[in-house]
Amino acid sequence: MRSVRDEVITLFWMAALAVFLSWLLNAWHWGGWLLVLVISLRWLLGLWMAENWLRSGGRRLNALWAGPLADFLYAVSRLLMRERKQSQQLLGRARYFKNAAEALPEGVLAVDSQGYIAWFNQGAMRLLGLRRRNRGQAVERVLRLPDVLALLSGEISGPIELESPVSAGRVIELELTPFLQGHRLVMIRDITAFKRNDAVRRDFVANASHELRTPLTVMQGYVETMLDTPGCHHDVWHKPLQQMHNQAERMRKIVEDMLMLSTLEGTDHRLKQDVVAVPELLAQIAQEAIQLSGVRHHQIHLVCETQAGLLGHEEYLRSAFTNLVSNAVRYTPDEGCIDIRWWQDEQGLHLSVCDSGIGIAPEHLPRIMERFYRVDSARSRATGGTGLGLAITRHVLERHNALLQVESALGKGSCFSCHFAHNADL
Ligand code: ADP
Repeated sequence: MRSVRDEVITLFWMAALAVFLSWLLNAWHWGGWLLVLVISLRWLLGLWMAENWLRSGGRRLNALWAGPLADFLYAVSRLLMRERKQSQQLLGRARYFKNAAEALPEGVLAVDSQGYIAWFNQGAMRLLGLRRRNRGQAVERVLRLPDVLALLSGEISGPIELESPVSAGRVIELELTPFLQGHRLVMIRDITAFKRNDAVRRDFVANASHELRTPLTVMQGYVETMLDTPGCHHDVWHKPLQQMHNQAERMRKIVEDMLMLSTLEGTDHRLKQDVVAVPELLAQIAQEAIQLSGVRHHQIHLVCETQAGLLGHEEYLRSAFTNLVSNAVRYTPDEGCIDIRWWQDEQGLHLSVCDSGIGIAPEHLPRIMERFYRVDSARSRATGGTGLGLAITRHVLERHNALLQVESALGKGSCFSCHFAHNADL
């Protein structure tokens, strides 16, 4: 390989040879011309070799013919080789990740910031019916599913469930994750098996509750008859019979609540839309609460700041509101205060049920809406609770696009609020 120093030495010797030949032949100008010719030929040959070498993709280089450019070309060739190796490594890594993404059982769809399909894997082809030719096409022209387009445009935030457009009966879930600037990644999961298991579990609970209803009613009927028939039972049996009656009543309530929960969970379609006159409904519930309080003399106040009602399922809403008010009665000491308030603002319609009762410790708050979760099981049972009241209330509100919020301080009281968006009011 030649360095600039070598090239200077070569030029020096060539010049010396030219001077010597000129002196020998006594023809000075011929010596000068000869020197210029030789140097030009060497550089021309070098350039020609460099051109050929570049045309051949920088592979074979004859250092002898490359002459003065050999060193430079070697440096370029080393750089090219390093670049080639790095790009091969990068390509290998990209291929590895692409194969891994292809092998995912879930579908993955990448949409660029302009709304064009950038990439998708086999899973997306299987679950959404995409074809290879769809790459690079506008997503709204390929996927004409309103929910998917709403998810992509950010109108819907959470994951959405829908029937696969390619195979009937298959349920898929789509979740959106933004990445880079304005790019979106959609994860598509097949949740058919999960949905089926969930339906089996729900059906089991619904059927079991339904089957328990009849024998319970019969038992309760007999116990009531025995209790009501004078002289039919000895004094010794009165207490056990009364307990049997109370427990049967408790079981009936649990069965009814379980049935309502499984019905609420099972129906995906829109609920019946009654015109619900909430102030009247709350007046009835407050009246029932006064009866429930009885000799405990709670101070129950109802304030309806608006006469607005809701569009919704009256029976379910009655059950949800009753659960909140009856909980307030059950978990508030005698003569405590219970304030029921119905009001409206720019966010929508709101109901709050606040009590001056025992309150709930902060560690229990995240769990009180779970089924059968009780802070104090003995107290809940003693006051006739099923452990399902708040779970039902939460489900009913979800089905009405409403939110349930709880604020509570131990020993001071609790405040349960339901927030209904504007589109629900009348
Ligand atoms: P339960 O039938 O046991 O009352 P819920 O689902 O209605 O079941 O309520 C769950 C738990 O939340 C109750 O067991 C109770 O510990 C707590 N809770 C609900 N409402 C109140 C309230 N107003 N004050 C204090 N604790 C409450």
